[in-house]
Amino acid sequence: MSTITAEINRIANQRLHGGRISLAEALFLYQEADLFTLGEIANEINLAANGTTVFYNINHHINPTNICVNQCRFCAYSKLEGEEGAYEQSIADILEEVKDAETQGITEFHIVGGLHPHRPFSFYLELLQTLREVHPQIILKAFTAVEIEYFSRIGGLPVREVLSQLKNAGLQAMPGGGAEIFAPGIRNQICPEKISGDKWLEIISIAHELDIPTNATMLYGHIESIADRLDHMEQLRQLQDRTGGFQVFIPLAFHATNTDIRKMGETSGVDDLKTLALARLFLDNFQHLKAYWVMLGEKIAQVGLNFGVNDLDGTVIKERITHAAGAKSAKGHSESYIRNLIVRANRQPQERDTFYQQVNR
Ligand code: SF4
Repeated sequence: MSTITAEINRIANQRLHGGRISLAEALFLYQEADLFTLGEIANEINLAANGTTVFYNINHHINPTNICVNQCRFCAYSKLEGEEGAYEQSIADILEEVKDAETQGITEFHIVGGLHPHRPFSFYLELLQTLREVHPQIILKAFTAVEIEYFSRIGGLPVREVLSQLKNAGLQAMPGGGAEIFAPGIRNQICPEKISGDKWLEIISIAHELDIPTNATMLYGHIESIADRLDHMEQLRQLQDRTGGFQVFIPLAFHATNTDIRKMGETSGVDDLKTLALARLFLDNFQHLKAYWVMLGEKIAQVGLNFGVNDLDGTVIKERITHAAGAKSAKGHSESYIRNLIVRANRQPQERDTFYQQVNR
């Protein structure tokens, strides 16, 4: 056995027996372990933690506007006010869009959008209150830390107060967007106007203190290094140690079309799968790992079920953000399509709600 193989086996055994792997060990695995070895280790860890169950949910994405005061270089979704393709939905428009939600079996509204230059904070409170009144059974998962910080500025309120008011209006959970990559040198190049990584972590930790669970994401495959990805995951791991408020980790594969970052086209399938596997190995305090099929494509997401993944996101319906950047996946799928992806990977599909509770119809 070569020294490299022996070291890979040592690190794998350490992790499989409940040990934590260091940044250096994770980097070594990414660089030296072949795709299938990494996948096999991640698969074993996932099967021990979650069995053969793979979760999905029936959700609807609401993106109230693409008008945004920020112009992040990687973002193909945002528009300036008056620019061709800019749109904004009123609360009435949104209610019309989701009017059949119950009959479609939807259990979650996932709400994120641009930082609109004129809408007051009260608009977002009213949006949640109205959705809560009209659709009382549907869980409201809304607003990234970037939006929360913007609401704090436009509302003249501390972040904690913004989150408390949103929670009173119906907010039950938050998505994990806006994390991108925490490393300042990279973040300053791809989204200099966006809040810092430290600020993102601070806002999320306040949400966790207020019992608002969140997701965690990482945008990869642009100009960051593998070490930057691991630094990002390390900071998430540390926060999870402190709060336990993260529900799932979601690596988001970068899409370059229509963005200002022209360095590359798409992430490779090998990189996508190695990144998923590495996340399962490194984030030992995250129970769930999601392959977001919208960004990965349905086929890589499905193969990811053998690389540590136990969640395939959901039906989505009307995805706008990644498709503005050239995603070739569908804008939404039926429940039977998602279940079929899981069954064909020899796993057991299980519908979940936002909080990873089983939904049995
Ligand atoms: S990523 Fe978000 S904050 Fe940045 S430009 Fe796009 S919509 Fe605006």
